Amino acid sequence: MSADLQFTVEPTTQPASDDQRAAILANPGFGQHFSDHMAIATWTKENGWHDARITAFGPLELSPATAVFHYAQTIFEGMKAYRHPDDSIHTFRPEANAARFARSARRLALPELPEDAFLDSLRRLIEIDRAWVPSGGETSLYLRPFMFGSDPFLGVRPSAQVTYCVIASPAGSYFAKGVKPVRIWLSEEYTRAAPGGTGAAKTGGNYAASLLAQAEAAEQGCDQVAFLDAIERKWIEELGGMNLYFVFDDNSVVTPELSGTILEGVTRDSILKLVTDLGYHVTERRISIDEWRDGAASGRIREVFACGTAAVITPVASLKWHDGEVQVADGEAGQITSAVRSALLDVQYGRAADPHGWMTRIC
Ligand SMILES: *Cc1c(COP(=O)(O)O)cnc(C)c1O
Repeated sequence: MSADLQFTVEPTTQPASDDQRAAILANPGFGQHFSDHMAIATWTKENGWHDARITAFGPLELSPATAVFHYAQTIFEGMKAYRHPDDSIHTFRPEANAARFARSARRLALPELPEDAFLDSLRRLIEIDRAWVPSGGETSLYLRPFMFGSDPFLGVRPSAQVTYCVIASPAGSYFAKGVKPVRIWLSEEYTRAAPGGTGAAKTGGNYAASLLAQAEAAEQGCDQVAFLDAIERKWIEELGGMNLYFVFDDNSVVTPELSGTILEGVTRDSILKLVTDLGYHVTERRISIDEWRDGAASGRIREVFACGTAAVITPVASLKWHDGEVQVADGEAGQITSAVRSALLDVQYGRAADPHGWMTRIC
């Protein structure tokens, strides 16, 4: 029965040696190294979810006809496990990721994985690979749950077989050399998401569609792309994989409202609460690209930052477009940006109280 799907644990017979693991954890980078195990489960139309296991990390063998290769029926999540000063291991708001995973599944016509099964897969994978959670600095074990249509069938329909998988990758401090503000390229030609489309789902296709704009940003000497709404090409939505926040000269804070085309970030949602905790006023509303350009030029907008699980909070130094560029204040991390960033990291790394009950102890 899928309602109480449990992941059985099959420990690998070939774990990395202590020396190999220590060498990786000394300099993990991002997304290049993987822990000893992975979680995997299968869904079929006939049998629902079954065969849920924690097993050795390794290649999947798939037919070239596998549905996902052709029609991109796939979703994913991104979250982290943190080592606290007492060596206990915690995740941050995993229920929020479980709920979003279910919403993404619905939009991509994939079967929903019960929230308990999602949380069970993470817990058991982290428990068995707890030695892979790095310590020190802003390091973590990055967790990547994903699901895809695995039916070897070229017909266009929701896949009759689906694979769920979680892999874990030790991650170093995103800003190993101190927080570095980023330059943003405004994509005027390409959009990320249209009403009725998949913008609010965490699906690979949104990323595939953003890569050309990201390459254009890189050619322009920028780090990230900002996308506008697809209809009026006027309202700021988000970056390719991060949400945006604006701080005004009266200390009020604004983030673009969820319009159905913006990905509902767990970090974005947490910041709404943290900004209020810090005593500032925050609103979710539409904000136009002219308000950003004019506000940065006049000084009315004093800080801009981007947020997401991987980089947490990244200050935005400037906005560039085809015939201009405007810097935000002095181009350095602003005061409220830095305060929110510290407040969030202090909760995640167990250095501060957790009044919202965001952390879940795994082991
Ligand atoms: C994952 C993602 C975010 C950030 O979400 P978090 O839950 O905060 O990590 C923002 N935008 C897009 C497009 C994303 O895919």
